[in-house]
Amino acid sequence: MLSTMQDVPLTVTRILDHGTAVHGNSQVITWTGNGAPQRRSFREIGARAAQLAHALRDDLGVEDDERVATFMWNNAEHVEAYFAVPCMGAVLHTLNLRLPAEQLTWIVGHAADRVIIVNGSLLGLLAPLLDRMTTVEHVVVSGPGDRSLLDGGRVRVHDYEELIEGRATAYDWPELDERRAAAMCYTSGTTGDPKGVVYSHRSIYLHSMQVNMAQSMGLTDADLSLVVVPQFHVNAWGLPHATFMTGVGMLMPDRFLQPAPLAEMIESERPTHAAAVPTIWQGLLAELTAKPRDVSSLTQVTIGGSACPPSLMEAFDTLGMRVCHAWGMTETSPLGTVARPPAHALGTPEEFGYRLTQGRFPAGVEARLSGPDGTRLPWDGESAGELEVRGNWIAGAYYGGAGGEAIRPEDKFSPDGWLKTGDVGVISPDGFLTLTDRAKDVIKSGGEWISSVELENALMSHPDVAEAAVVAVPDEKWGERPLATVVLKEDATADYASLQEFLSTRVAKWQLPERWALVPAVPKTSVGKFDKKVLRRQYAEGELDVTRL
Ligand code: ADP
Repeated sequence: MLSTMQDVPLTVTRILDHGTAVHGNSQVITWTGNGAPQRRSFREIGARAAQLAHALRDDLGVEDDERVATFMWNNAEHVEAYFAVPCMGAVLHTLNLRLPAEQLTWIVGHAADRVIIVNGSLLGLLAPLLDRMTTVEHVVVSGPGDRSLLDGGRVRVHDYEELIEGRATAYDWPELDERRAAAMCYTSGTTGDPKGVVYSHRSIYLHSMQVNMAQSMGLTDADLSLVVVPQFHVNAWGLPHATFMTGVGMLMPDRFLQPAPLAEMIESERPTHAAAVPTIWQGLLAELTAKPRDVSSLTQVTIGGSACPPSLMEAFDTLGMRVCHAWGMTETSPLGTVARPPAHALGTPEEFGYRLTQGRFPAGVEARLSGPDGTRLPWDGESAGELEVRGNWIAGAYYGGAGGEAIRPEDKFSPDGWLKTGDVGVISPDGFLTLTDRAKDVIKSGGEWISSVELENALMSHPDVAEAAVVAVPDEKWGERPLATVVLKEDATADYASLQEFLSTRVAKWQLPERWALVPAVPKTSVGKFDKKVLRRQYAEGELDVTRL
């Protein structure tokens, strides 16, 4: 028998309506770098989103489920696009502005973007590519920048403020099917070609509810969240949607992502929460060590995107910023696990260990581990296998291009539809995930697996080490062995032998790297993760100065 309950569609429009009606006074604060941050209430954002939707439909002819791309920093106008585009029925396509030119042009063509909204400060990056972005007809420029870079080009250029000015501040948003596409994001291609993940209204709605749960980020309207994670990196981990559900304010850094302005905005705007990948926090930590600031408002920091080194968590704890580690992927919206320790561990020596795991699965994410031959492995905290997940906000396929069928590559989806994450780890009996590696980064030495992450974490706990990345390199005897690449802090005195000695008290002897190289910086991907593909290539091409102990 069927239920007797109402069946109201779960849509982004519902989130917008709620945010503007119930939390209309909450604010999006955008850093401007000139001492006067821009402040806009959720109510104003809603009104301007309606104006933008009118402009996109009436002037630019955006219709149905057409993609509208953004090439923007985190700021209020980007939040306006986040709501205007999906609520009018179109699909928001956030472009990763740090991708190489060829990938960007490929992605824009694949998504058939006809309109791009761009920040003026990014025109230097976008303008030279527009001739190759043949699907693009309109560029809408927001904020200061050199508009002459677009002179003589093929596309029609609009000014964001002029385009929306004078339009109705309400929009009769269409009733949408909750399964329709609302937004899309291409994976950043750390381990292969970019692939388009298309989020539905329903998946965004359910994901936002999960982000807001106490065992996830658990923020309320008393909080102000510093959203450092880019809006083009998996929807800024769901924060713009989640905050409109709960009235959490957002502090947006725009283009001011360097450690000094970040420290300055924390001191002056006093956010209570912040979210970013570990490399951002390493930079901030160095800045605060060199020049202490009052960052006492910031008590909760969400770290994800790559493993949080224990040394970073400890250092932040000392500063009174409690780190909450989380794991996710573009394909998982991204919230997959969150490391909130279980009640019985609070205040015990076990607590820190729980916080260092990637975290516990929420009810909306089912997980299983798959062994090398496809066998199911138990959740015993010891059996390591590839993590597979399924759930309401997990991708079941990739975008196949305009008019094309969705793609389900065998190495990404199991025959019964689960997402193969490519991450290798163990799950404890109480549902906490500990990742040891990406499948492609595991070091296979003489039939045993060495975790590159474990070696990196151990190395980064050495007082002289600023950064360390470990990759597998070919070895005649063992098949593969670890190569340790290290960035030393200024004035550091450690040499390879002393680093190896330091490691020997922390990992098994057979795992100790014998190949070492000092590097000026670990190469990073477009979203700030260690780029091990580049390191492996540099090693293969003899570009690294390797010492063998
Ligand atoms: P890309 O795959 O291009 O790097 P994603 O942001 O989708 O882009 O990356 C997802 C991957 O990042 C995960 O599969 C995992 O390998 C890694 N990752 C994310 N969060 C963590 C974490 N907390 N610890 C370790 N690895 C993580």
